[in-house]
Amino acid sequence: MEEKFNALCIRSVSYKDNDKMLTLFSLEKGIVDCILRGVKKPNAKLRFAGELFCFAEYVVAEKNGRRTVIEANEIDNFYEIRLDIDKYYAATAIIEYVRTFALKGESYYELFLNTLNGLKAIQNGAYLPQLVLVKYYMEGLKLAGYGISYSACEDCGVIIENRVFFDFNSCVFKCADCADYSCTEMRIGTYKLLSLLDKIELSNLKNMDKSTYSPTFDQLDTVKYALKFFDFFIKDKVEVQIKSNQALLV
Ligand SMILES: [Zn+2]
Repeated sequence: MEEKFNALCIRSVSYKDNDKMLTLFSLEKGIVDCILRGVKKPNAKLRFAGELFCFAEYVVAEKNGRRTVIEANEIDNFYEIRLDIDKYYAATAIIEYVRTFALKGESYYELFLNTLNGLKAIQNGAYLPQLVLVKYYMEGLKLAGYGISYSACEDCGVIIENRVFFDFNSCVFKCADCADYSCTEMRIGTYKLLSLLDKIELSNLKNMDKSTYSPTFDQLDTVKYALKFFDFFIKDKVEVQIKSNQALLV
């Protein structure tokens, strides 16, 4: 049986002498594992298909429950991401996120589009890689059922301007008047960054014209606090540590 997948290569490990085991994140079926044969031989035609971040149409044959890549046509690639250490870790964080959630998520279509948009935005480099990652988590967690409202105090509805608190149990923001002992205070700058980021589309971050959101989105310290927030949130809610986050938080 042959199948076609529009897929991103999210893991590639050596297997036997000349082969690679790939994990693909596909539009059609989520996570797909397959073997890429003979790829380490000189002049291997499908070498590109075994590179991390390759986005291609993979044609895969299944036999005895094992899938083998028999053809691949490159659609796009994100290899330039490897040339910058922050871009690289932001991209590997996205891949770690996919590995964690793609098996559990219901809508692969949106997660797939988000993943491509996120990698594109990281590659284009108009915004900090950490910022793109924060927006990716924000959208990904909504898809996974952990959406957060950033618009106002959850209890009284007031627009929060000075001190802001987050309730990790109910995943809502509160003003100083409504917060109780179970809430954690957050920097107001971080909260304002998040509420602005929540209003724009992830695909907008691919845009090279950054003037609209400067300088809010360029403040590395504030962006790092926002990333720390999601790093903690994911650990707390999903009990998963995304290792690549740590390299971006130093
Ligand atoms: Zn309130």
